[in-house]
Amino acid sequence: MATKVEKFDVFDIKPCVSNPANLRFVAQADIRFDEAIPYLFLSFPSSQTKYMQKQNILTLIIWNRMITLFPSRKIGITNTAGMEEAKEILEKLRQQINAAFERKEKQGPPKAEEITTLQNLSPMRIHCLLPKTNCGDCGEATCMAFTFKIIVGERTLKHCLPLKDPDTPRLQQKLQEELGTPTLRVLGWNS
Ligand code: SF4
Repeated sequence: MATKVEKFDVFDIKPCVSNPANLRFVAQADIRFDEAIPYLFLSFPSSQTKYMQKQNILTLIIWNRMITLFPSRKIGITNTAGMEEAKEILEKLRQQINAAFERKEKQGPPKAEEITTLQNLSPMRIHCLLPKTNCGDCGEATCMAFTFKIIVGERTLKHCLPLKDPDTPRLQQKLQEELGTPTLRVLGWNS
């Protein structure tokens, strides 16, 4: 039977430090989800994550708040307007965690280098892999401007039309060799 988080218990509700009108709280899942954490890291642009690989602690900076997942089944969540919003956030998170479990079952554990490739991904590294013609086909004035949009998840690699050109297989091969499938998925290349 597939591993799934079914529910969370919420406790330790306090005023949010950065915005005391809102809440921060801790939620505890009904099962351990530590095996899903690396897959969650490999699901978001690196600018939206901080991952302590050794401790397997992941902070996501998404949905206008910080969400920290601990292998102890606990999740810390900030900047939440009330318990209704807390329920909505936890449901979205539950779906993300269960999708990560499904990926783990299909793909097996991620390799260490797949994690470090995404952790170390810099704008310069992406820029080196682009055609660097500043043609503007992606809607940005330069390849460098496009690179910064990629890093924050506002654009995907698919928006670079020359990169997808079947006549440039060398560029595509280099992308695959340098970044690998998980990072390319995060960058929207083969999603
Ligand atoms: S479409 Fe690609 S090559 Fe052209 S400017 Fe954008 S990133 Fe650069």
